[in-house]
Amino acid sequence: MKLLEERILRDGKVPSDDILKVDMFLNHQIDVGLLNEIGKEFYRLFQSAHINKILTIEASGIGIACIAAQYFSVPVVFAKKGAHRNVGGNLYTSEVFSFTKNKSYLIGVSKDYLGPEDHVLIIDDFLANGRALIGLKDILDQAGAKLEGIGIVIEKGFQPGGKLIRSMGIHLESLAIVESMQNGAVTFALQDC
Ligand code: 5GP
Repeated sequence: MKLLEERILRDGKVPSDDILKVDMFLNHQIDVGLLNEIGKEFYRLFQSAHINKILTIEASGIGIACIAAQYFSVPVVFAKKGAHRNVGGNLYTSEVFSFTKNKSYLIGVSKDYLGPEDHVLIIDDFLANGRALIGLKDILDQAGAKLEGIGIVIEKGFQPGGKLIRSMGIHLESLAIVESMQNGAVTFALQDC
């Protein structure tokens, strides 16, 4: 997505060779106009998939998912971080290893909001090693819900998550795929559109 790539080049920061900071428009200050274009693009890519729910993970995924959800006219459910296994039987939980924080945490979704009747699109801001997505998929599997696809705003193509998710036969669409960030210079993989 050209608009997104241009914005990453203009306002993205590269504090190390494998972390991209986009606090200026996505992760801290939010450019709602840009998010609206992102939501529209996710709708274009997944409109034929008969989605009835969007699943994301707090915190950064929520704004993106909510704006996309307006195009799909479906509710958003977000996995809460720091869930406890001992909250009783009403929560699906999964453990996720955080790439940015370098530690594991538990995510949880109430059984009230996911079930076998659901056809789900997962949306998140970044894809690095794929641990967050595997945790969300684990929750969908526990719920018996069907994963229809995954929409990612920024995939770091030099990390293994994209390959892992695609090798599982999941329909994954990333709006920008960063090929390299060596010495602070961001380059993108060529995409079809
Ligand atoms: P993964 O689980 O794929 O290893 O990492 C994805 C999660 O880590 C995303 O939900 C995102 O919040 C965070 N993340 C991974 N890499 C980056 C990055 O380069 N920049 C930012 N801002 N977040 C990242």
